[in-house]
Amino acid sequence: MITINENYLKLQASYLFSNIAKRVTAFQQANPDKEIIRLGIGDVTRALPAACITAFHKAVDEMGSDPSFRGYGPEQGYDFLREAIAKNDFQARGAEISADEIFISDGAKCDTGNIQELFTQDIKVAIPDPVYPVYLDTNVMAGRTGNFVDGRYQGLVYLDSTKANNYVPALPTQDVDLIYLCFPNNPTGSTITKEELSQWVQYAKEKKALILFDAAYEAFIRDASLPHSIYEIDGAREVAIEFRSYSKSAGFTGTRCAYTVVPKECMAFDSKGNRQSLHSLWNRRHCTKFNGVSYPVQRAAEAIYSEEGQAQTRELIASYMRNADLIRQEMASLGYDFVGGENAPYIWIDAKGDSWEFFDMLLNKAGVVCTPGAGFGKCGEGYIRLSAFNSYANVVKAMSRLRETLK
Ligand SMILES: *Cc1c(COP(=O)(O)O)cnc(C)c1O
Repeated sequence: MITINENYLKLQASYLFSNIAKRVTAFQQANPDKEIIRLGIGDVTRALPAACITAFHKAVDEMGSDPSFRGYGPEQGYDFLREAIAKNDFQARGAEISADEIFISDGAKCDTGNIQELFTQDIKVAIPDPVYPVYLDTNVMAGRTGNFVDGRYQGLVYLDSTKANNYVPALPTQDVDLIYLCFPNNPTGSTITKEELSQWVQYAKEKKALILFDAAYEAFIRDASLPHSIYEIDGAREVAIEFRSYSKSAGFTGTRCAYTVVPKECMAFDSKGNRQSLHSLWNRRHCTKFNGVSYPVQRAAEAIYSEEGQAQTRELIASYMRNADLIRQEMASLGYDFVGGENAPYIWIDAKGDSWEFFDMLLNKAGVVCTPGAGFGKCGEGYIRLSAFNSYANVVKAMSRLRETLK
């Protein structure tokens, strides 16, 4: 008899986006001539940078002739891309990461989910609240939690990120083994300073714990004092794995390319307490279960690091951040309390009441779609997330409707 992994039955149906879609559809049917502006979804709206498209086309042409055709590439990614990453994303910032510590993949979502295969089931896991739901659900699937009770899975340590701690969680009071951190943060748009991040690195060293650092939004940092990588912190090479993605930084959400950094000093322990290299375990896992990102996509990603590519991605990000500035300005003048939008494409707004009620009001009165914070965890109740991923014209229109509705 074939039996199932019953951990899947503990998962809470992800009502968030289907619930939003249902309400939006109902509104559209009732108001067929009302134009809806979506500031809810965490997906980019602008085209790939021209430099990426040129490189993408050229690589596709190479695949079309026998002498330049490429079959299976290295599972970890081509050297041309790994070297460009090491040099531009790390060494240029004083973080000593080498090309062979970088594993190219088709997404940070899969990498953050897959990495936990390297750890035992009985580790203590610390997850922020509110949170990118992937960290939570993948741990549930792996059997690292109990049941869902009162809005939280039993057995996890939740790291509350609230106004009181400026949306940077405090160190846990009980010992934990695996820690998820994401800065600049989705959904709150908050950031972490080098000093705060150093405390986490220090904690991980003391407790022999590991930090999974999701830096998918580092390209949106404008404040020069903030860390782009956890490896800017002394000692992080021993206790941290970092996830990066071109999805938000260069519009690759539909093209798919990301990478994970596992430094060679990064260790975890076997049952006898001996140190084991996570670099070699992840290398083994990656090569066994993954056959590499397609050659044209890796060439398109490499082009991000060319001079034109750098200028074009800077412009792309600046255009989204101009939207974020406008949203912040408008919410401040309407008297709302919020965080984010300065070094991240998300603005996390205190709804002064129920998340879903605020969502319904914005939809029905302004035709603007946001994301109710309650969908990201218990601490998200009472908040909404606005995303800067849209055209400037749409954001201008959305803000003028919000002003009419909320003033
Ligand atoms: C969008 C996003 C990612 C990127 O995921 P991909 O699979 O690379 O598209 C990773 N982490 C967070 C928190 C995100 O919001």
